[in-house]
Amino acid sequence: MSNIQDEYINKHVSAAQITNTIRLSRFFLVSIVIVSLYIYCIYQFYFAKPSFYLNLWFISTVLFCCLSLLITSIHFKPRNFSLKHAHRWLQFQFLATGSFIGVGIALIYYYLPQYNHDFNQVHGLMLSALLLIVSQAFALTFLTQRLNYFCLAFIPAILPYLASQFIAADTSNYLFHLTINFALIVILLCANTSSRIHQRISALYCKNNRLVKNAEQQVLWTDELCQQLKTEINKSKEIELQLQLNNQLLEQKVKERTFDLAKMNTDLENQQQNLVLAHEIAGLRPWDWNIKDREILITNSKQQKTLKALKQHQHQLQNIIHSDDVEHFKFSMKQHLRGRSNLYEATYRIQNSLGKWKWVHDIGRVISRDPINQKALRMVGIRRDIQQERTDQERLKLAASVLKQASEGIFILDEQLCYIDVNPFYEKLTNFSQEKIIGKHLFDITANHKSQQRNDHYSIINQLLKTGEYDGEMNEKFLSGKELTVWMHINAITDEQNRVTHYIGIVSDLTERKLQEQRLSYLENYDPLTDLPNRFYYNYQLHQYLVSQKDSIQQLAVIRLNIDRFRPLNEFLSNSGGDELLRQVAQRLRLTNAEALFVAHLNGDDFAIVYEISHIRPSIQQHCERISQAFSLPFTIFDQEHIITLSMGIAFYPENGRQLDYLNNCAEQGLTEAKNLGGNTIRYYSNKNTALLEQGIYLERDLRLAINNNELIVYYQPKINFSDQNIYGFEALVRWNHPTKGIIPPNSFIPLAERTSLISDIGRIVIQQTAKQIRHWNDLGFNNICVSVNVVAQQLQRGQLLEDLDYAIQTYQISGSSLELEITESSLLENSITVKNLLDEIKERKINISLDDFGTGYSSLSYLADFPIDILKIDRSFISKIGENKQEAIVSAMIAMGKAMGMMVVAEGIETQQQLQYLQDLKCDIAQGFLFSKPLPESEATIFLEQHRLIPSQV
Ligand code: C2E
Ligand code: MG
Ligand code: MG
Repeated sequence: MSNIQDEYINKHVSAAQITNTIRLSRFFLVSIVIVSLYIYCIYQFYFAKPSFYLNLWFISTVLFCCLSLLITSIHFKPRNFSLKHAHRWLQFQFLATGSFIGVGIALIYYYLPQYNHDFNQVHGLMLSALLLIVSQAFALTFLTQRLNYFCLAFIPAILPYLASQFIAADTSNYLFHLTINFALIVILLCANTSSRIHQRISALYCKNNRLVKNAEQQVLWTDELCQQLKTEINKSKEIELQLQLNNQLLEQKVKERTFDLAKMNTDLENQQQNLVLAHEIAGLRPWDWNIKDREILITNSKQQKTLKALKQHQHQLQNIIHSDDVEHFKFSMKQHLRGRSNLYEATYRIQNSLGKWKWVHDIGRVISRDPINQKALRMVGIRRDIQQERTDQERLKLAASVLKQASEGIFILDEQLCYIDVNPFYEKLTNFSQEKIIGKHLFDITANHKSQQRNDHYSIINQLLKTGEYDGEMNEKFLSGKELTVWMHINAITDEQNRVTHYIGIVSDLTERKLQEQRLSYLENYDPLTDLPNRFYYNYQLHQYLVSQKDSIQQLAVIRLNIDRFRPLNEFLSNSGGDELLRQVAQRLRLTNAEALFVAHLNGDDFAIVYEISHIRPSIQQHCERISQAFSLPFTIFDQEHIITLSMGIAFYPENGRQLDYLNNCAEQGLTEAKNLGGNTIRYYSNKNTALLEQGIYLERDLRLAINNNELIVYYQPKINFSDQNIYGFEALVRWNHPTKGIIPPNSFIPLAERTSLISDIGRIVIQQTAKQIRHWNDLGFNNICVSVNVVAQQLQRGQLLEDLDYAIQTYQISGSSLELEITESSLLENSITVKNLLDEIKERKINISLDDFGTGYSSLSYLADFPIDILKIDRSFISKIGENKQEAIVSAMIAMGKAMGMMVVAEGIETQQQLQYLQDLKCDIAQGFLFSKPLPESEATIFLEQHRLIPSQV
């Protein structure tokens, strides 16, 4: 280490010596020039003989010194030169300089004393010594950095001097030489010492430098370290700050966590309480079975936990589980414990402390098993009381089955009126499946194209939202295409706060009932035969026109039509033919009177047409003529053509009357008049008929009064036996003995009475009076008198007739055989079995049955055989035509047929002898007619009887 250090110091000292010497060499050269100049000047000044050699020496020395100065300045600038070159240069320079000094000393010491005599030895000695001592003094000053440099300048300089001592042994100068030698030795020693001092100084300097550098380096390092330390300190501070921050955050987090934990704890406690409450409410009882320790933790109904020994618990369980469920319970438990099921689940009955059975649902799972043998170690579970649930389920099932089975459409809506459930019947009603209905709004499944329907729906919804209830009938068309008349009842269901939660709707299908009603209404209002409105509807509708629509319809015409001579034609065509004719007539009337307000079929062959009168329409006369014209074309019935004519009676509103009955009567009077004129004509009601009209209006009311006031009396028209001209009996014919109008014939009130129940009352009165009269005649001795009474279909149907007859027979104690009932063929048509039974019962009372007006009705000959008819009464219309060949043939055939069937034949309406004779020839049994007598009041009839009592004796 010290070697390295020494080497370094040596190197440095050497470098310092060279560098310093380079710097000091300039002073040395300048010093040499000055010394040389000084010596040269002294010589020139004192010795006035110039010497070439001295001049040359002087010049060459000065030149060399100057050149050396120049080279040193240029080539060896401080710190910018090679040490090696500098060293060589210095050595050369000092050697040369020493050499020049030596040459100079030699010149001064040897040459000049010889050359110039003024210049003696002493002079030489002094100047050379000056040159030597001064130059060496300068060399000692400037070149002792290294002894070597000094020596190079010193040795050549002293050589001439030393040589002189040995060459010229001059003793005079001995002391001088000695002095000089001594001075030179001292100089040399000083040079050596100086060199050593310089060397030591350089070494010290070097060491010092090194120490300084080291110190600087140390300072630098210290600074760096300080800097690093500062940085580290800053970092530490930052870290500390960060740590503090983190600390604070951590504290904050810890606080938050603590708060959260506290909250969670509170929540958990709350939840725990909630759970306990929930368990309590839901009837849940958790259990925890520690299989390993054979203990079980069970919860009672008050959510209190009890730890029990397993054996005790099992024993208890076996006692309270229903015997039917024990096996199922055990099986499920074993299966799970053996790991064969994921979950233990069992539903069974247990007995509570009151001895009642209730259903529970037990569910559990093994939560820990022995890892080696998989044996269950711990199991947890929950037992739930499901008694209420089961009861509710059963109730729900029942309700669902009711809903399913109900034969009414039932639907449930939510509070937005959207379907949430419908029953199968509602699906059937709407023709929509449940899936298509659910979720839709109440009326989204109906067609809402018509504004009326939309309005109806809107008002239903409004009512529902307002009152929570709707009840009503409606026609509904569903989008499925189904159209129904339904009765809908919707009710809101509310919760405890009275908020509507649901709506329940019940829908009844009224379609069939409506159709039925429509059918009934049709039957009520329409004549099924002709499809025209019937009398009832005609009256109702006409009344509507007159009352309700008074404002819109100003004038009306009522046309009453009747088919001329329908009865015989009807009889000719038979039942179905007559019906077909009526149908065709109705059809033709309908087609011809398309503009009419309506065309009605009142009954039989009676029709009515109502027209609105307007100046823009054809006149009523034109309408009627058009009808007549239409009827000029024949009707084809059963491939036979028949020409039909009509009689028409017309009345006008308001001219002829403002009330329905008035108008009808007026039209009827017109019709009667047309009929009286022989038919096929049109008659307008005229005022002259007012009396009759008024009569008609109040007819029914008056007739009732007449019955109550006993104004009905019976006239008796005699019937004569053709054989002996004796009185066979009478026909009882009713008359109305009107207090003011006198005797009113039956044709004026019987048709009206037939349309009401009055005919039965009238019939009863006639039977009573007749029976009474028979009694009277019997009492007078006319025992074989047989009196016939006219009976109409209504009397046969009402079931009162038999009672009336029995009552009369019993009251007046007469024989049944003294009574005879005249019925028309048409009476036999309706409900013929009932009629036949009735007639049989009448026959049992020995009362004879006579078929009145024979030939004018539906003369189906089968009736004659089927019904117990005793007498045939040939209608007056045939008798009156006796004389006409064809008619006579008919009469003769009728009589022959009646006789052939064992019936008695009566000819009514005999007015002439010719008719009498003709009938007598045909062996007709009984004659009745004006030829013998008109119908007579009872007193006159008695007289007639008494007068003709003699006839048999005359005969
Ligand atoms: P009918 O049963 O055919 O009675 C016969 C009608 O012919 C009677 O009319 C009688 O006066 C009339 N007559 C009898 N002989 C002749 C004659 O030679 N020439 C003419 N031109 N007429 C003759 P009347 O009494 O006006 O009775 C009419 C109809 O009223 C009866 O026809 C009968 O259907 C009905 N009628 C009368 N009385 C009663 C009754 O008490 N009860 C019911 N239900 N109907 C009755
Ligand atoms: Mg009669
Ligand atoms: Mg008759």
